[in-house]
Order: sequence, then C-alpha cells, then structure tokens
Amino acid sequence: MDPEIISSPALMQERARNLRLERRPIALVPTMGALHEGHLSLVREARQRVGPDGVVIVSIYVNPTQFGPNEDFEAYPREFDEDRRKCSGEGVEIIFAPNDRQMYAASDGGSHSVHVVERQLSRTMEGSSRPVHFEGVTTIVAKLFNCCLPDLAVFGAKDYQQAAIIRKMVHDLNFPVAIEVAPTWREKDGLAMSSRNKYLSAEERSQATALHKVLQQCSAMVMQANDPQSVTADILLEHAREVLRAYPLVSLEYLAFFHPDSLEAVSDVRVGHHIAIAARLGRTRLIDNIRIG
Ligand code: AMP
Repeated sequence: MDPEIISSPALMQERARNLRLERRPIALVPTMGALHEGHLSLVREARQRVGPDGVVIVSIYVNPTQFGPNEDFEAYPREFDEDRRKCSGEGVEIIFAPNDRQMYAASDGGSHSVHVVERQLSRTMEGSSRPVHFEGVTTIVAKLFNCCLPDLAVFGAKDYQQAAIIRKMVHDLNFPVAIEVAPTWREKDGLAMSSRNKYLSAEERSQATALHKVLQQCSAMVMQANDPQSVTADILLEHAREVLRAYPLVSLEYLAFFHPDSLEAVSDVRVGHHIAIAARLGRTRLIDNIRIG
C-alpha cells in the first residue's frame, strides 16, 4: 500500500494522537530524503521494533537551519517520488513531509525564535566544523517528535555524534521517546552510504573509499598494539596522512579519536574508543566513523 503523505504539522499531530488512542506504537525515522539502503535499514529496524500493528513514520525534510550559509542546502538532492516508492516497498504507513513555511513560520509573522541547544557533546568534530549544524538538528528533531509523537525514533550510527546529541536531548528534556541507533550501511568497497555520494564524480567516487580505509587502518594499528595497548593519536594521524597521500582528491578536514560516551578527544587510543573522519572531495564533504575493535 502507498504511504499516506502528510505535510501539515497540525494534521500529523492529530493523526499521531489518534494512533496513540488506538494503542498503536509509533516509530519515527527522521531523514532528509534521497533515500538509500542505509535509510531503509533504519526503516526495517523501526518496523521490527514496533511490529506489524505498529506504525512507521518516515519524515522527509531538508531542514534549512542545520545548513551553514556556504553549505549545500540548495544543491541537496530532492527525490520525493522515488522516496515515496521506496517507502511503499518497505510498508511505511506515513510519510511526514512538511515544507519550510509549515515548519518555521511564526504565528505572529515574526521569526522562529525558540531553539534547542546542546552545549556539551556538540562542541567537537561536526560541531566545531559546522557551527550552526547541531542547533538546527536538535531543534528540528524536537519539532518532529512533537509532530509525530513517536514511542521510538531510529537514527544511524553513520552520524554518531548526532545520535549521541539526540540521546542527550531526550534525556535532558524528558522526551518520552526511546532512541535506537542502527549500524552504518556501506557500499561493497566500504564507502558509507550517504545522499551526498551522489555529488561525487567517477574519480572522486573511487577515491572516496579512502575515508573508510583510514578508519580501518587506524583501528587495525590500535588492535595490534600490545604493550602499551594503545597508540597515540599523533601517530595515528601521521599514519592517516601517509595513507591519504595515495588519494590526492581527498582533503582531510579532521580525524578525531574520542570516547564513545563523552565524545571527548583521547590522546592514547584504545580498543572501544571511536574514530571519526571528515574530508572533502572537490565540493563534497563526507563523514564516517567506526568503533575500534
Ligand atoms: P540524512 O537523511 O542523511 O539526514 O540521514 C537520516 C538518518 O539516516 C540519520 O539518522 C542518519 O544517521 C541515517 N543514515 C544516513 N546514512 C546512513 C548509513 N549509511 N547507514 C545507516 N544509517 C544512515
């Protein structure tokens, strides 16, 4: 069956309220569309969690407030018809696809002036590279929660820091929503699936495997370390730069070694720590991360 398409926040809320009265569990998968297998894996996880009587809502919204002024908001791929077909194939009951006016118009004609800001986990990595990004993310996710009233929301480990910040928001602001984080889906050559992979030229696409290669090689170095059972972040960074010499189209923005809970940088890197990378290939900015071990 084709998913029901809802664009009005008020109608979405009313629909969700009725589903809750019917005691049907609701799972939300927030996305910006241009859906790929990674997104669909979250949809399958959502279905598994709520069961056949539950309702899976996929939100599709390219949220302007999480893009910086010189980022790719305008260019971001928008493929609604294709997305709808994919959701239909997965048995998604509802697509919530609001527009900017519906999401951000203030009732008094002024501007949207209430935002959700996380001040701890969002300081590093994506937060320092993209200053407005996480404020946009937490604000839109809070709004999506209030529109869709989910029991559960599923996010991808591909955006590890984002998932950690959402968990923190849910805890600190007492949102009655369980957060599930599903593993990163990759292409056969290791490249993490991303809607932004569509921007890559053939040559960039073939060099984009470097991100995963760097993560894996750093992880392998740590796993092979015996005494002490750690490798310094400096040595790993040096090794990463050496690996990247073979990929001239890849320009490293950051390589971060961090604790999985606090997201604080670690200087002695061990099994159980995480590694995140951000790099540019031409105008495309890609990110990836893995857990060591
Ligand atoms: P996006 O549409 O890029 O904002 O992503 C929507 C959700 O899908 C986020 O929770 C992402 O972490 C998740 N996601 C994106 N790419 C992948 C992937 N390759 N594997 C698993 N989840 C992903």
